[in-house]
Amino acid sequence: MSLDLPLRPELRGLSPYGAPQLDVPVLLNVNENPYPPSAALVDDVATSVAQAAAGLNRYPDRDALPLREDLAEYLARESGVRLPAGCIWAANGSNEVMLHLLQAFGGPGRTALSFAPTYSMYPEYARDTCTDWVAARREEDFSLDPGRAVAAVAEHAPAVVLLPSPNNPTGTALPASTLLAVLDAARQVPGGCVVVVDEAYAEFRREGTPSALELLEDHPHLAVSRTMSKAFGLAGARVGYLAASTEVVDALQVVRLPYHLSAVTQAVARAALRHTGSLMEQVASLRSERDRTVAWLRDRGLQAVDSDANFVLFGVLPDRVAVWQGLLDRGVLVRQTGPEGWLRVSIGTPAEMTAFREALVEVAGL
Ligand SMILES: *Cc1c(COP(=O)(O)O)cnc(C)c1O
Repeated sequence: MSLDLPLRPELRGLSPYGAPQLDVPVLLNVNENPYPPSAALVDDVATSVAQAAAGLNRYPDRDALPLREDLAEYLARESGVRLPAGCIWAANGSNEVMLHLLQAFGGPGRTALSFAPTYSMYPEYARDTCTDWVAARREEDFSLDPGRAVAAVAEHAPAVVLLPSPNNPTGTALPASTLLAVLDAARQVPGGCVVVVDEAYAEFRREGTPSALELLEDHPHLAVSRTMSKAFGLAGARVGYLAASTEVVDALQVVRLPYHLSAVTQAVARAALRHTGSLMEQVASLRSERDRTVAWLRDRGLQAVDSDANFVLFGVLPDRVAVWQGLLDRGVLVRQTGPEGWLRVSIGTPAEMTAFREALVEVAGL
């Protein structure tokens, strides 16, 4: 007997999103921080979780205000932009933040716009919130042409524009002038348009690359999302957050599930934020390892996109599937993403990057 489930037609035949989780020695495929939490951080997390555990019969602090205050304090230190806790929103990963944004501002008859190649989760948030999805194109060098970006906003009149900076999978950051042009164009959209700058990798940006946080004061329709998954090495804890006007944050509060952020998650995030100093030293060494990787790939005659993130997109490979498989056979897992012929490698420890380089030399005959 066949079972008839009323699955939404647009979900029929789809499988869940996700990169392969394989058990190999060198994992360079999902842009994680390769350094596990320090012993001091693990201790602090354990103590904080024990305290939270004593109150787990109660629902968590629904507004997570102490965490949002700590996040505001962190952003002030990191980017010099001081915001009240009411301008910060936190959720289970920035993926959930993004879903909240589309639940609040997207929906049937509305459009979300981004520029491909970009983060492969965006069309899924759009689909899940019944929001129309439009992917305009980036230029050949993966930059965003301000004139064409403005034209795309005018043409599609989106309710939401999703702009990762640095972009995944290319590593390309947005110049402030381009963002300002898009923000102006968004103001002209009838009914309004929220511009979301996804700064999941912001801590890895190179000297002189601005953060969109600096534009918040003058742009109440701007939202900047961040995550603790990458620079903080906390991917397993699922904490993402957003900085925006109180109007935007108030709208997100309406669509969130009650008690969406567990007491344990809040305790873990606050513990990690107390270790910002040592975590940011790690970020500095990952940035230099990234720059060394870009230089090495170019020395070997490959193209490598300038990166403001903790990964590098490289190519052009005549058969990227074969190179990916060859690396995997040597215990190195990278990501098949981006245009045909390109692969993305996350920045690991120096030893992991040596393994990557040695394997690539063998596989691609560099
Ligand atoms: C990794 C990543 C995120 C982070 O997602 P979390 O849900 O916070 O782990 C967000 N945006 C982009 C573009 C990413 O690559």
